[in-house]
Amino acid sequence: MPYLNFSQQVKSELVRVQPSHAECKQAELFGLIQSAGALHIGTKGPSIEIKTENAGLARKTVSYFRELSQSTTELIVEKETKLKKHNLYRVRLRVPLENDVLSETVINNILNKQVPQLSNECCKRSYMRGLFLGSGSIQHPEKAYHLEIRLSSKSFARRAQAFLESAGLNFGLTERRNDYLLYLKDAESVAVFLTMVGAHRSLLEMENIRIIKDMKNNVNRLVNCEDANIDKTVTASLNQLKAIEILEEHGVLKKMPRTIQDVAEVRKENFDASYAKIGDILGISKSAVSYRLKKIEKEAEKITNDSRKEETYEE
Ligand SMILES: [Zn+2]
Repeated sequence: MPYLNFSQQVKSELVRVQPSHAECKQAELFGLIQSAGALHIGTKGPSIEIKTENAGLARKTVSYFRELSQSTTELIVEKETKLKKHNLYRVRLRVPLENDVLSETVINNILNKQVPQLSNECCKRSYMRGLFLGSGSIQHPEKAYHLEIRLSSKSFARRAQAFLESAGLNFGLTERRNDYLLYLKDAESVAVFLTMVGAHRSLLEMENIRIIKDMKNNVNRLVNCEDANIDKTVTASLNQLKAIEILEEHGVLKKMPRTIQDVAEVRKENFDASYAKIGDILGISKSAVSYRLKKIEKEAEKITNDSRKEETYEE
């Protein structure tokens, strides 16, 4: 079964989140620049560059740059080729900037990987959204509950981890091929993250899959449990029938007490009956049934062992 790329789905939902608060937009853009931005030195001077294959994210970045900054914005599209299946978008914002929300000092701060001071809850969430849009990914919930944000700087990864922790999200941190991964790997915290950043539709889908998965697990557990019980009864019953057969063949059963012969008789007629059921039929207790059936098995075992010994003597 082919899986939809859940990361792309979550991101296309997040791209459409339009915060009304100007500071939220700024916070989201900071997160995006810090996770996916780089300083580009071109012929026209330095600029901040965001590289992405997501057309929606490129558009959002352009509109944020234009809204928040007076500086020149440039959008470069590298068309898909046979080697590259998707267009690559480079969105650039020229520096230095003056009297600008995205002034040079702010840009320096962003590139020096300092987590911005954000006092509003909405802005903190917008910053997280920016981080995820820039370098996040999430596994399809059919496969696993796993969300991660890939960062290139260890010190920034640590700071981002502390920031996320202060927001109530306990991300793990691990190194992979010179990158630093902040990750969540349980359904509960992945769900909290999706709620915080505003991926409500994706969250709903994940929760639906989770409910179905849990139901399947419960049904499997029940079925396995019943199977195990049936198995146990059947195995025990088969052993007892075999024992009764041996006792009959050797003429031992008819020499045993009447009470034991009765239990043997009822067992033969009620292959899958529980001890309680056999007890009901005979008007005796469950433990009396168990005791007598064990006696039958022990006697049969003696006969089997004896005949094995005889076989050995004959050789
Ligand atoms: Zn805000």
